[in-house]
Amino acid sequence: MDFVQEAVFLGVDVLILGLCFKEYYQFKKISSALKEAPQLAIDETLPERLKRSDNKIKYGVIRGTVTPIGTPLKCVMSPSVTGVLQIMKLNEHRVARGFAGFWAEQRKLIHISCNEVPFKLTNGKMGVEVVDGLSAEILDMDTVYDNYEPSSLSFFDHIFGFFSGVRQKGMQTTEEVLRDGSFITAVGEIELDGNTLRLQPSSVAPMFLTTATRNTLLKKFEEAKSSMLFKVIICGTISAVLVGLITRKIYKRKKMEWEERRLREKLEKSRVQRRALARQQVFNDEQRCVVCVDNPKEVICLPCGHVCLCENCAEKIRLNCPVCRSKIESKAAAFIT
Ligand SMILES: [Zn+2]
Ligand SMILES: [Zn+2]
Repeated sequence: MDFVQEAVFLGVDVLILGLCFKEYYQFKKISSALKEAPQLAIDETLPERLKRSDNKIKYGVIRGTVTPIGTPLKCVMSPSVTGVLQIMKLNEHRVARGFAGFWAEQRKLIHISCNEVPFKLTNGKMGVEVVDGLSAEILDMDTVYDNYEPSSLSFFDHIFGFFSGVRQKGMQTTEEVLRDGSFITAVGEIELDGNTLRLQPSSVAPMFLTTATRNTLLKKFEEAKSSMLFKVIICGTISAVLVGLITRKIYKRKKMEWEERRLREKLEKSRVQRRALARQQVFNDEQRCVVCVDNPKEVICLPCGHVCLCENCAEKIRLNCPVCRSKIESKAAAFIT
């Protein structure tokens, strides 16, 4: 196997190609779903519009003001701020020794807690309830608290860190909320259930709750799609080149094998011809095989060293030399000139 290296590269490249292609396909699916998703105004026409399409629009876009249904959440760290979705994260910042022995900064999520209260997107008196907002793939929230506390490490902590390969640098606490009163775009499945309007995760494409408009969102996914397509093309080209290289090597080897075989066959043929010619010559009896007394002597028996057989008889006589009766361990071609 003289193409192991290329085969390994090809394997890795095909893997990356697969991942890129999967991402590309996902972006393509999202951007075409977004292109087709109707932008609907939250007003009296919305229930009518939904009734016309069987009370459900698989993937639609609405824009409105975040309004809690009931009491809003109070932020833990800054109680003056209220919202409807809240995520608190505790991250540990640390430096850790990697494979090559270098120290690199890392961030590790230690704890996450999420809270939500029911809320609607409203426009005047009309509103659409948003269900399962925390599962949105893009969820634009405000960071209302971000605090980094450096660790005070003792001498022994440093020593311990040196041997364990991990040294804590500090802890970061963040709190993000989707404030009530913010104006956002929501993308998902829109449903009319009795008199209630609802936006929920869709089976067509992911749900988004974002401050961006639909066009900005679409542009972002189009850009992501193009850059992924570029990566797919690059990986695909590399794969094609590697496949070409491997095929060339295999072809070259096969060709060499064919040529060797052809040469062997040619030599064999010429040997048979030569022997046939030699047998037509007139020999005296000493020059003839001791078994058939017809063909010339052509084979030496080893280890005794008697040149006494022709090739035809040598094939039949395997055990003992016909001259001295000693055991034949091997035979070789002998040329008597
Ligand atoms: Zn013979
Ligand atoms: Zn012998």
